[in-house]
Amino acid sequence: MEKYVEKYHEFPSEKIYHFVCGECKNWWSHATDMVYRRGQNMSCPHCGEKRGIVKKNGDENPRWERDVT
Ligand SMILES: [Zn+2]
Repeated sequence: MEKYVEKYHEFPSEKIYHFVCGECKNWWSHATDMVYRRGQNMSCPHCGEKRGIVKKNGDENPRWERDVT
């Protein structure tokens, strides 16, 4: 039996996250296949300020958050 060989162009997928520091307002980006979650802490590479992250447009708002308020 002949071994099946993939003939496709393979691609990994990743997201590019663009962060804007809540302190110094500088930005940086990170391309990764991991998923950043709201509230996760991250240190600004510019000023070192460590804060939780939040998605800018808020469309990641899970139901439990709306129910709390
Ligand atoms: Zn900063």
